[in-house]
Amino acid sequence: MMGKTHALSGFAAGLALAALTHPSPLVAAAGPVLAASAALWPDLDHASSKATHSCGPASETLSWVVRHLPGGTHRWALHSLTAVAAATWLATVAAALTHAPKILAVYCGLGYACHIAGDLLTDRPVRLLWPFSDRPVWGLPAWQWTLRWWLFGWDQATLKLRMTTNGPAERGAVRPALALIAAGSLLLILRHVTLTGSP
Ligand SMILES: [Zn+2]
Repeated sequence: MMGKTHALSGFAAGLALAALTHPSPLVAAAGPVLAASAALWPDLDHASSKATHSCGPASETLSWVVRHLPGGTHRWALHSLTAVAAATWLATVAAALTHAPKILAVYCGLGYACHIAGDLLTDRPVRLLWPFSDRPVWGLPAWQWTLRWWLFGWDQATLKLRMTTNGPAERGAVRPALALIAAGSLLLILRHVTLTGSP
């Protein structure tokens, strides 16, 4: 899955969370942006990802270190549930150090988890259970079958079980669906602001 799709998934999930929980204006504004950013972090394990080149030499060095650690292979340790917990914990520490609202760490964890959920829908597996198991895990085939059947018809649907990175399913279905969720959540937030004066 492409970096922009990952970022959009984190942003949409962050807006949806803000629309559902009516946080402070600061959290409503910063939360979805942080979630979009966190949705890029897992791909620090890839030499040419958006995350790796996001902060120049600093993120490139961090990526190099990650890739030379045990489990540093692409879609391995950084694409696990343990990494979601670690990222949320690190964000909690960062929030405490900067006196930012701790709830922002939840947005980071949510964005990070969105990345892994997105990768689970593609044609390559992630090591979701690392370090407890190195078993490759794919997303639900039934979901993919339905999507492909709906997009391309049955003959095409049977050609490949899962969607490819930046393929027609990602560009034609996943991205528009995420944009709809983001737009719908934003409208709900704006409606709440008009009615009550706060998000
Ligand atoms: Zn990834």
